[in-house]
Amino acid sequence: MPYQITLKNSGDHFQVAENEAILDAALRAKGSMLPYGCRNGTCGSCMATILSGQIDYPDGRPPALSEREQAEGKALLCQARPRSDLVIEAREIKTGADIAVRILPCRVERRELLAPDVMRLYLKLPNTERLQFLAGQYVDVLLADGRRRGFSLANAPEADELLELHVRQVPGGFFTGFLFERMKDKALLRFQGPLGTFFLREDSPRPIILIGGGTGFAPLKGMLEHAFHTGLERRLHLYWGARAQVDLYLDALPRQWAEEHPNFRYTPVLSEPHPEDRWEGRTGWVHEVVAADYPDLSTYDVYMSGPPPMIEAAKAVFAAQGLPAEQLFYDSFEFSSH
Ligand SMILES: Cc1cc2nc3c(=O)[nH]c(=O)nc-3n(C[C@H](O)[C@H](O)[C@H](O)COP(=O)(O)OP(=O)(O)OC[C@H]3O[C@@H](n4cnc5c(N)ncnc54)[C@H](O)[C@@H]3O)c2cc1C
Repeated sequence: MPYQITLKNSGDHFQVAENEAILDAALRAKGSMLPYGCRNGTCGSCMATILSGQIDYPDGRPPALSEREQAEGKALLCQARPRSDLVIEAREIKTGADIAVRILPCRVERRELLAPDVMRLYLKLPNTERLQFLAGQYVDVLLADGRRRGFSLANAPEADELLELHVRQVPGGFFTGFLFERMKDKALLRFQGPLGTFFLREDSPRPIILIGGGTGFAPLKGMLEHAFHTGLERRLHLYWGARAQVDLYLDALPRQWAEEHPNFRYTPVLSEPHPEDRWEGRTGWVHEVVAADYPDLSTYDVYMSGPPPMIEAAKAVFAAQGLPAEQLFYDSFEFSSH
């Protein structure tokens, strides 16, 4: 029988199975609402106070919880299992600014070429670390000479065993050139994150239009997987703009989502389809297709990410079609200045 957990500050509640860690249940039910770091009892980031009810640690008191803290009613939510309904006092995450930005080392665990110029990287953190973030945020990869390169997190926060990036090779690009041409298997990198305010606002009731240009699909993938995970019931319409079919590098995935989730629609748009694509779908600039489909945007939330020219053009067109500025969220994939 599941137990009910109530968070004192917000009054929010969620259910936890008897053998489930309280933090895992919170992540499953609500996403990143509680702070965490390592998720294995060693960092102490998820420490909270149990105001009422009983908990237990199947593997004993975790290393980051002292005997004194335990006696004072403190608990590590990543390890604690409920033994009754609980009321908990915890620092609650409301925006990206509530999450600590950290510099972490990582190993490139796997890489996959998804298109001739797009590579998927899976990054593994040290065993004692997890990165807390909100779906859609990005990290800056830190290079040896102080340069940094931004890449969006393409996984949802609850699937954080490996971090996923979709990297497009920039012609003549310093870092992406290294990554495609010279990087060794299991290479070590360092990054800073999570960064940015491009994350899903879960408290709005409005239907959502998501627009990705090229690898701008990456943060939208994280947001959508998170929305499916938490059972978000708002209507979701994804537009993915690319040049030719080969550039829709994970096209099968949103097609599958459309079959699985009745509230989700997918419209791919090609600007320069190849003759061999035999493309019968939508063509042109992705933001113009959105504008044609939604002449009145005043009742929507719009999330878009991708090349700066797409973002600039879309902002003007959408504003003219009634989209209030506070309902538009975007990450423009600007290049670094050094
Ligand atoms: C918040 C954020 C999130 C991002 N997320 C992603 C992501 O998920 N996936 C992804 O593939 N990319 C993403 N980007 C873009 C990515 O950061 C750049 O592609 C990357 O920094 C390029 O690094 P580089 O060292 O290979 O290229 P650089 O060596 O920095 O630049 C290569 C060449 O391109 C030129 N250049 C500079 N600006 C432009 C421009 N606007 N258009 C064309 N050429 C230009 C430079 O002058 C230089 O000659 C993101 C950017 C930001 C700001």
